[in-house]
Amino acid sequence: MKLDSMYQEVILDHYKHPHGRGLRDGDAEVHHVNPTCGDEITLRVKYDGTRIDDVSYEGQGCSISQASASVLNDLLVGKELAEAQKIQETFLELMQSKGRIEPDDAMEEVLEDAVAFAGVSKYPARVKCALLSWMAWKDATAQALGGADAERKTA
Ligand code: ZN
Repeated sequence: MKLDSMYQEVILDHYKHPHGRGLRDGDAEVHHVNPTCGDEITLRVKYDGTRIDDVSYEGQGCSISQASASVLNDLLVGKELAEAQKIQETFLELMQSKGRIEPDDAMEEVLEDAVAFAGVSKYPARVKCALLSWMAWKDATAQALGGADAERKTA
């Protein structure tokens, strides 16, 4: 089974046909860049209480960074914050595994298409590409809902 090439197709498909792309109404907006690769993303979050109503974005850069934003939109929109944080932490764990984690069924159930980035974790320079939109989401969420990050910025 050529898992790597299947994963590459998933990433390429999200890159060519991004889900939920475009900026829509939001509670907070952030702009994050990954200077080592030249990736950029502008991301907005919209919350309905603690439920994620929308994650909209515009960006440019490599296929990994842009596909990752599309996967994030798929995974997080409609979720409760606690569940979304669990997904984000699982994805972070996978991306920081340096290729040591082989996603199992349980992980695939949480991450769905995001398991396609497993192979990317072997390349430290590309890990930042894959995490760009997820860090942007975390930052935007802190600004929208308050928290340590938001407090630090206004201090
Ligand atoms: Zn990149």
